[in-house]
Amino acid sequence: MSQRIKIKALLESEQTGIDIKINGWVRAFRQNRFIALNDGSTNNNIQIVVDFENTDPNLLKRITVGAAISVTGELIASLGKGQKVEIVAKDIEILGDCDPEKYPLQLKNRPSLEFLREIAHLRFRTNTFGAIFRVRNSLAFAVHQFFQERGFIYLHTPIITASDAEGAGETFHVTNFDLANPPKTESGEIDFSQDFFAKATNLTVSGQLEGELGAMALSDIYTFGPTFRAENSNTTRHLAEFWMIEPEVAFNDLNDNMDLAEDMLKYVIKYALDKNAEDIEFLTQRLTEEEKQKPQNERSEMSLLEKLQFCLDNDFERLTYTEAIDILKESTPNKKKKFQYPVEGWGTDLQSEHERYLVEKHFKKPVILTDYPKEIKAFYMRQNEPDANGRETVRAMDILFPGIGEIVGGSQREERLEKLEQRMDEMGIPKDELWWYLDTRRFGACPHAGFGLGFERLVLFVTGMGNIRDVIPFPRYPKNAEF
Ligand code: ATP
Ligand code: MN
Repeated sequence: MSQRIKIKALLESEQTGIDIKINGWVRAFRQNRFIALNDGSTNNNIQIVVDFENTDPNLLKRITVGAAISVTGELIASLGKGQKVEIVAKDIEILGDCDPEKYPLQLKNRPSLEFLREIAHLRFRTNTFGAIFRVRNSLAFAVHQFFQERGFIYLHTPIITASDAEGAGETFHVTNFDLANPPKTESGEIDFSQDFFAKATNLTVSGQLEGELGAMALSDIYTFGPTFRAENSNTTRHLAEFWMIEPEVAFNDLNDNMDLAEDMLKYVIKYALDKNAEDIEFLTQRLTEEEKQKPQNERSEMSLLEKLQFCLDNDFERLTYTEAIDILKESTPNKKKKFQYPVEGWGTDLQSEHERYLVEKHFKKPVILTDYPKEIKAFYMRQNEPDANGRETVRAMDILFPGIGEIVGGSQREERLEKLEQRMDEMGIPKDELWWYLDTRRFGACPHAGFGLGFERLVLFVTGMGNIRDVIPFPRYPKNAEF
């Protein structure tokens, strides 16, 4: 297999007249003469011209869609249009046959995304999923590059933990017990003191609390790892296993936090636009095609490419929750009772229909909402002084994106011990279990802030896909853990 050249490099090369070797999977074989070969390095196929009169018919028969082959031949300037170069085959070796009668991925009739989800082990072989996963790769790399350029420390927070950061309780339990027969205490409850970790544990829902510990010495840290939520949300925006990026920065306030998040989002989107221009071009066309199926008034005003460029060129709109509520109350859909959840008072959480109205209809650009009511946010968010009306808010921020809704959730953290303890008491968060978290407020506490970016929601935005299950290789969601 030595000296294999990848198709991406080949298509960019100007050097014709040389012998080369390529490997890949057959995408099409026309007229017993033209093979379209792909190796995943690019969406484009290389054309291989077969001298079929002088090729063993048994070999020709085995060149079927999906087969893995190795080709040696001469790279020549292409005679046809659509490509610069092609290969005149001198030797073709079948590495792996692919029975056309049984191969589920016949690309003649464009398979639906739903069907491809059922054959997720093979969907990488389509143009759409090739593009998605190359873009996902670039975004992940760009996240690291962004933080590394700024001197952040990549901190690995634990996957198994005994704490539930939000206190929301939507966790997956981790246990070594024989489930049919777990040890019980005298009062009949499951006795976790006999379990592997001698306490009840779960898969992490967020690395934030541990991230804060790191930031209280390393100053600027970020995590980038898997998180798990057992929420039964069968939506196009939720997964049970997703990847989250969580920076945590000492000495930052909420404004610094918003700047960091906005800079980061723009940086990684720009990186993907530069690095994956062809893939994003392809995904833009895909989305435009898909939207042609929709009624005119439901189609986007901008193409995917335009949306991404627009996001880079414009400042995100920043306003408080209270200002947003005023806008929503006065909005046409609210007055015409078009919202499923009418916006009446101050204090309730925004539904995604409200978020989407603000982003897609009112401001028509990404929005950062700040200073939410403290009742609807987590215990660790920094408390503001009550306003003139006695309303109590916290230094929270959510970033809302068109078509996605919430993409980032973050806050300035409460660094004052008494305030934090008081809030934990009010919310019934056990202080003794979080003794280590409270210690950072005892020993050299300082203002700090951070956020969580749901990586798949970012990939959704950049690829223009409609369902989060299509931007992670093997999605985990209720009733599905196949592959
Ligand atoms: P939502 O209201 O959309 O459920 P959340 O308020 O539960 O989000 P956070 O706990 O703030 O979200 O998590 C931080 C980020 O992680 C979110 O902004 C979002 O991008 C992402 N996220 C949260 N839950 C999921 C999920 N189930 N699947 C994929 N991404 C998620
Ligand atoms: Mn949630």
